[in-house]
Amino acid sequence: MSFSITILGSGAALPTGRRNPTSQYIFCNNRHILIDCGEGTQMQLRKYGIPFQRISHIFISHLHGDHFFGLPGLLSTMNLLGRNRGVTIYGPAQLKDILKQLFECGGQKLMFKLNFIPTSTDGEQILFEDRLIKITSFPLKHRIPTTGFRIQEKQKEYRLNPDAIEKDHVPIEFFHRLKKGESPTNEQGKILNFTKYTFPPKPSLSYSYCSDTAYFEDLIPFIEKSTLLYHEATFLEKESDRAKLTFHSTAKEAAIIAKKADVNHLVLGHLSSRYNEQDSHLSEAQIEFEKTTIAEDGLKIDLLKIN
Ligand SMILES: [Zn+2]
Repeated sequence: MSFSITILGSGAALPTGRRNPTSQYIFCNNRHILIDCGEGTQMQLRKYGIPFQRISHIFISHLHGDHFFGLPGLLSTMNLLGRNRGVTIYGPAQLKDILKQLFECGGQKLMFKLNFIPTSTDGEQILFEDRLIKITSFPLKHRIPTTGFRIQEKQKEYRLNPDAIEKDHVPIEFFHRLKKGESPTNEQGKILNFTKYTFPPKPSLSYSYCSDTAYFEDLIPFIEKSTLLYHEATFLEKESDRAKLTFHSTAKEAAIIAKKADVNHLVLGHLSSRYNEQDSHLSEAQIEFEKTTIAEDGLKIDLLKIN
């Protein structure tokens, strides 16, 4: 089981040599996921050695260019390299036509299937679910319709207690049900209570992503108790007027959201290019929420290590 995020772009609308526009790669239980795809994302994927042909789910938060202008380029490169495995894109409804038109204008036919799932800003929406994980979207407060995303591991299996099992000679055919938290009856009619033969499951990890958004307490129920929260912090408090005007957040506001949502750890990103250093973002946030990290391009965070 693995669950990590790699920041591919930590900057805001204006790219700099140090900070690319927004994109993140998430590796979760053998799923390869991309969230947002700012300009130059395919180069960042190469730079950080991420096997981008394995990416099969791409989530786009909103249609500001710094969050999706890299998507046509990435899909085009996947095509040129002979991809035949489909890609599913989750994003605002207009994105489907935008991509279609772009490829049609250039006479480029994608040789793989592009599935499209439109997102909605009407509350929480389940976008993807399998045996191990669930991915949901939820509304943010920005100038155009924008959603955040949460990747949540489902409850894991109970762990067998080898000593208890050996002592009572529990046959192997019951292990499967015990691990699921069931209490089967053996051939002698005795109930094998799973609490006696197992340890509790390991904690389920979750990652929540909030970019871009004004300070918005309504999003708290959707991100509550996340192992890791990424929240944009385009500005510092001294530019709070500008933050309000542009529907962005300050470092302090992001940290208050992290505190109120009772998350384990916070990573701040989408930093405006007006700031040459990031110490002020960190110190401003840590007054409210100690366990804060500032995103850097290439930063990898393993959720198992911060849990
Ligand atoms: Zn935006």
